[in-house]
Amino acid sequence: MALRIVVDRLRCIGAGNCVDAAPEVFQLDEKDISIIVNPIGAPPDTIVTAAENCPVDAIKIIDEQAGQQLYP
Ligand code: SF4
Repeated sequence: MALRIVVDRLRCIGAGNCVDAAPEVFQLDEKDISIIVNPIGAPPDTIVTAAENCPVDAIKIIDEQAGQQLYP
């Protein structure tokens, strides 16, 4: 499944919940803002859980093949 993961850099507060949930996918950059290091670094369910754990809903996940937004 090809997921497009988008982090709203203006909304992200660097809480790191996404990194805790899926460290192969998300990391914090030098400004403590989440970046995508590998969009296929974890199963889709794990990536969706990471997005759900974001306290400010800064992560959007789109299933490119199905043309469907998985989160939010
Ligand atoms: S969980 Fe949300 S606020 Fe925290 S680092 Fe990830 S994107 Fe940013």
